[in-house]
Amino acid sequence: MSLQHEKGVALVTGAGRGIGKAIALRLAGCGYHVVCVSQSAGSCGAAAEEINQNGGSAEALAVDVSDATAVREACESILGKHEVVDVLVNNAGITRDGLLLRMSEDDWDQVMATNLSSCFYWVKGLSRPMTRKRHGRIINISSVVGLMGNAGQVNYAAAKAGMLGFTKSLAREFAGRSVTANVVAPGFIDTDMTSSLTDEVRGKISAQIPLKRLGKADDIAAMVEFLASEEANYITGQVFTVDGGMVM
Ligand code: NAP
Repeated sequence: MSLQHEKGVALVTGAGRGIGKAIALRLAGCGYHVVCVSQSAGSCGAAAEEINQNGGSAEALAVDVSDATAVREACESILGKHEVVDVLVNNAGITRDGLLLRMSEDDWDQVMATNLSSCFYWVKGLSRPMTRKRHGRIINISSVVGLMGNAGQVNYAAAKAGMLGFTKSLAREFAGRSVTANVVAPGFIDTDMTSSLTDEVRGKISAQIPLKRLGKADDIAAMVEFLASEEANYITGQVFTVDGGMVM
């Protein structure tokens, strides 16, 4: 891990566990100072501590990303300290699965607020200095479910599909300022989110994946690292599936 933070500041939501933590560790390894956001102070605190103990630079911030006021205040505080966030990764997400006829309005609202509205809140709060600097990366973590749909996940699929339209519109709005916006759409990744799947279900899922296995959190982080890099400066408004070949 680099001791310098020559690359600037990155903020990763949902950095306490799973994919977000893998992204935070990778970006720290590239030399970014990483603001690790999660719901509980314990998980983002532990992620930031791991980065700092390994020679990187990070800080933790417990914020409920579904709360517009809390995100606005967090953005003001971060910009007061760092002036600009160069890389924003909207990764925090939840599932509240159920067939449509049994899904409560609360399950719908919670998933939309946490997975989709949160992206709007963070981009609104952090993008002005990026556009002024004429450099920035916005990377939104959607899902193949947003592309394919999935029975039992109308709320999650709608939120994840919404992220695509959101990101493509952002890409058009910010292109003149050299701020790029892209989506990474993971397939089935081995994290807490998928840990409740039984071995039987995992077996069935793996059988449908051309690469015949679930992915690792770091497989997603590697794509995010590339999209955050200078090498990706001519890529915007795109959706990258990292899914073992599920969507072709
Ligand atoms: P995870 O292991 O369940 O971790 C979710 C992270 O999001 C946690 O750090 C959690 O905070 C944070 N979070 C949840 N609600 C939040 C809120 N209201 N405010 C702030 N932080 C919140 O999830 P994951 O599997 O790594 O998934 C990460 C992203 O990838 C999600 O957007 C998910 O939809 C997407 N994805 C995952 C898969 C998969 O197979 N795993 C597939 C496709 C897409 P705490 O640590 O404080 O609880």
